[in-house]
Formats: sequence, structure tokens, C-alpha cells
Amino acid sequence: MIRIGIPVRSISGRYVVNQNYVEALRRANAEAVMILPTTDLDSILPLLKGILIPGGGDVDPGLYDEENTLSDLIDPVIDRLDIALIELALKHQLEIFGICRGQQIINVALQGSLIQDIPSSVKTKLDHSYSEHHSAPTQGHLIKVKAGSRLSTLLPPEIIVNSYHHQAIKKLAEHCSVSALSEDGIIEAIEGPHLLAVQWHPERMIEDPLFQSLFDDFIQRCL
Ligand code: MN
Repeated sequence: MIRIGIPVRSISGRYVVNQNYVEALRRANAEAVMILPTTDLDSILPLLKGILIPGGGDVDPGLYDEENTLSDLIDPVIDRLDIALIELALKHQLEIFGICRGQQIINVALQGSLIQDIPSSVKTKLDHSYSEHHSAPTQGHLIKVKAGSRLSTLLPPEIIVNSYHHQAIKKLAEHCSVSALSEDGIIEAIEGPHLLAVQWHPERMIEDPLFQSLFDDFIQRCL
């Protein structure tokens, strides 16, 4: 069995992993393993073939040497957990799949930086739709997938994705390239060695085989 580590999120005194990530991995014939802030990463890592860094709150801007302007829901314990896991995974060449905040913290862990609030920093007509409780339905928006990218082997050149974020990549991480952009220039996917990340939420659209294919491809890379 292919086991994939997912770092938990901390919400109102509970450690949680959204079930749709677990289900998307199950459909790709992989088993999700919850990673807690107290988990001994060195002993669990040999049991894993990859890590999935899921969505969550904002990354502490101090981690990319900026003052906090409009970042919120910051959790230093979860930031440390995600970054420790990303660094160990890279060191041991485990495959990494990042989603939403996952893409953002991977970018920060690799020396990149973030736009702290799209609506107030970027002139855009698109609604990337941030809602404090992550529950508001959004319309989504088009992305353009870069020809020649790994992502382009999975998705058509243009596709509508959902959008539940108010932050995005500013300075791109070292050793990474952009694999998709929205029409206003927001980075919607990146990839690098042993790494692919997306700004949208494919786990909420796995009934569409195109979006399940991102999980299938992740597990293929883990084999
Ligand atoms: Mn978006």
C-alpha cells in the first residue's frame, strides 16, 4: 500500500484532515496517514511514499521576512509542521503534492514569498474568492496551463478551476517553474523536482476525472 502523509490542520481545539483529500487518495489506491505536530517525523517518514500538503490558514509572513498586513488565521505550530515535513520530504526525495495553502507554504519553504491579499494588492476583475469560513460557493475562473509542463500532460491548455484563496505566490520559489496562470497573472500551479502544487482545490472536484487525475499522477510519481 502506498502511504501518503497529510499534515493536520488545527481548528477550534481539534486536529483535522478534510475527508475529500483522503477520498481522492483512496481512489488513487493510496492510504492517507495523518501527521500531527507531535508526530516523530524521522520515524514515520520511512513508511511514506509522498506527502500531500493541504489547504488551511495563511502562512506567517515573518517566514518570508514581511510584516503582517492582511494575513490571518496564522498558526505557527502548523507552519512549523508543514515546513519540517516539506524539508524532510525533499531531503529524502519523497513526492510532494501541494494544494492551496499547500502551494503557498511550499513556495515559502523554498525561499519564495506571498501576496498577502489579492483583492487589495492586485488589479483584477477575477474573483479568487476568499471567505473567512471557507464555505462560500465561488464561481471559479479560467486558468491557462503552460505547454510542456507536467500539468499539461494531465489538463487541457485552458480549464475552469474553483478558487478559494485570498493569497498567492509573489516571488516564485527556487528550482520551481510556473505551470498555470489565471488571466490576471496569478500563479495557479507550480512544479519542480518531486513536486507539483496547485492553488485551487481539485479534491472538491474529483467526480471530474480530469481533477482526479492530479491525484492519480501524484501516486504514479510515488511508485
Ligand atoms: Mn484562483
